[in-house]
This record gives sequence, structure tokens and C-alpha cells, in this order.
Amino acid sequence: MTMEFTDRLTRVEPSATLAISALATELENDGADVVDLSVGEPDFPTPQNIIDAGQDAMDAGHTGYTTSAGIIDLREAISEKLADDGLEHGPDEIIVTPGAKQALYEIIQALISDGDEVALLDPAWVSYEAMVKMAGGDLTRVDLSEHEFQLEPALDDLADAVSDDTELLIVNSPSNPTGAVYSDAALEGVRDLAVEHDITVISDEIYKEITYGVEPTSLGTFDGMADRTITVNGFSKAYSMTGWRLGYFAGPEELIDQAGKLHSHSVSSAVNFVQHAGIEALENTDDAVEEMTEAFAQRRELVVDLLAEHDVDVAVPEGAFYMMLPVDDDDQAWCEGAIEDAHVATVPGSAFGTPGYARISYAASEERLEEGIERLADEGYL
Ligand code: PLP
Repeated sequence: MTMEFTDRLTRVEPSATLAISALATELENDGADVVDLSVGEPDFPTPQNIIDAGQDAMDAGHTGYTTSAGIIDLREAISEKLADDGLEHGPDEIIVTPGAKQALYEIIQALISDGDEVALLDPAWVSYEAMVKMAGGDLTRVDLSEHEFQLEPALDDLADAVSDDTELLIVNSPSNPTGAVYSDAALEGVRDLAVEHDITVISDEIYKEITYGVEPTSLGTFDGMADRTITVNGFSKAYSMTGWRLGYFAGPEELIDQAGKLHSHSVSSAVNFVQHAGIEALENTDDAVEEMTEAFAQRRELVVDLLAEHDVDVAVPEGAFYMMLPVDDDDQAWCEGAIEDAHVATVPGSAFGTPGYARISYAASEERLEEGIERLADEGYL
């Protein structure tokens, strides 16, 4: 029998990050030592107090279904965390999800219908495009690469790109893949356009805790943004909890009601004992987050310095653990060559809508970062 798949799905490419990591695994299976600078995954273990809290919760029998939106104690802890960031969302305006990715998927499915227009700031995290296409939406893209990936100097371009037809704008600061943190003036510009054209905005703040000397402001705190912003965050990055799958979104109650239907009919809820561990993460893990961020800061310096020794200038990231390396126009071929010849895995910029770059993740150890850059230089890739 021949199966027919929907256009929505067949329009979407498999993840470029996963394609690179499949190639890396193939090489490793053949005995190669691959330096993996492709994955956005902290190399630290989850802090012990969080693991203990998860284990205690299992021992205490927290292994059944929970309320679909998430246990009240976690939603209250999230509400307090958001209040510290200046955002007012009670537990009824929060849905806890298995990862921030699921949160984004649910929001986009709830808001976007066939032909709806969604604006992205490029380079943009790979899954936004796929999620919008899977919902039937169309994309309008604004290229920030001419401005060292900053939004403020590109506000005129954004103004040209959006209109009353724009349903949704996705903002991700600190950004994956650039590490850029958008200024308050940039976010005010977003606010002005969102209000003028009545646009809903997703503020993906998953890297908010990982910054170097700057304090990103939450978009929902700007005047006029509270009832049109959906704030997304998660535990994967700041607490090194990628495999635990825990995230959330907070927004106006009417969105929560609609997206809540999708949530309850698909995932039911995030994992019970993981939600308990999430409370511990939010309440007692500041020191560990600070230590991990300090390590990322040192790795950032190291990579920027090593690249400078090879006369490669990069836009220095102010947050997250990524940077964009300028490479050949054919970034796909560059990345494939780098992994085959130097056994160094990176992700092509075109996967994020910005050809001519490769994304490096400096979540790897200093030793591996040094090794990776040396190999790229030795094989003529720098
Ligand atoms: N948003 C951005 C910008 C990301 O980079 C990621 C993960 O790489 C996510 C969301 C999803 O994170 P998770 O589903 O692990 O919480």
C-alpha cells in the first residue's frame, strides 16, 4: 500500500542538526574521534540536588498522571520566577510541558492556521520554521546577519517585513544560533510594531539565565506587551536537564485555554517526578547555574581568542553557548568537509536561514574546543 502524507509534513526537512549528528555517529562507529561542536547540550551533569529531588519524588510515589497543566506547586514556583523577571502570570496562565520545544509546538499549533503569516528573525532556531510549516503557516524572514546579528539596527527591515497580515512574531534572546542578546531599544521597537499591527509575539527565553555581563529584559514587561506576549522557557539549558524534558509557557488565559486542549489531548502532562525536580531547580540551584555560566564564559573567551589567532573574527555572543563562524558561501559543503576531513561537527548556517556561516556550540569542554579548532585549522578550514 502507498501512504499519503500531508503537505504540511512533506514541506518540512528533517533537522539539520540531527543529520550532522547522524554523520558524526557513523564516523564514530568506524572508530573516528569526532569533536562534536554541533549539539546545544551542556556537558555538565544535572546538579545533584535536582537528581535527589527527582529520586525522592519517585520514592514518594509521584509516578502517576498529574493535572494536565502541571502540578500546582511547580506552576506556583514558575509564577514566582516570572515575577522576578517582571512578568505577572498566575498558575492559571502557565502550562508545564515536556520541554520548551513542546511548548513552542503547542503555541504555534494553537495560533497558526493555513496561510497565516509568521515573522522570524534570521538566523533563527531550526525548529521554528518546521513548526510554522507543520501548522500550515507562511514565513516572513528578516536577516540580522548584516548587523552582527543584532536586532536594533535591523528594526527598519522588521518594520518593512511585518504588516496587519502578520499573525505572529518569534523573538529569541539570547539567541540560538548567534548568542546575541537584543537591547531594550530593540525590544521597544518590537513592541511598537506589535502594537501597531496587532501581532502576537512569542518570547523564547530558554537561554535567559546564561548571559555574560548583560541582563536581558523579558519582552512581556514592556508597556502594551503583557496581553500579546507568550513567554517560553525550560530547564534543559540553564540546569543541564536536556533529557529530563521539562519546559513551560505563560501567556493570556484565553491562549492557555485553547492550547490546553492540545496539551491534554497529546502529552497529557509532563512527567510527574520530573515536575517535582523542576521545583528544586527553580528554588535551590542558583549557585550551580552561576558556576555553569562562568564555565561557558571562559569557553567563550577561549574560542574567540583561538579563532582570532587564525584571523577569524566572530560576532562575540553575549548569551547562550553558540557563535556563528563565517565560512564559505556553501556552508553545507564546508560543514560536511569539516566533519569528514577534520572530524569536527558543526551545523550549517543555512539550516537557520543564514548561509555562509557554521554554528559552533561551545557547550563542549575547553580541551575539546581546543582540539576542534586546532583540527579545523590543520585541515585548512580556518
Ligand atoms: N528554543 C530554543 C531557542 C532552543 O535552542 C531549544 C533547544 O535547543 C529549545 C527551544 C527547546 O529546548 P527543550 O525542548 O530542550 O526545552
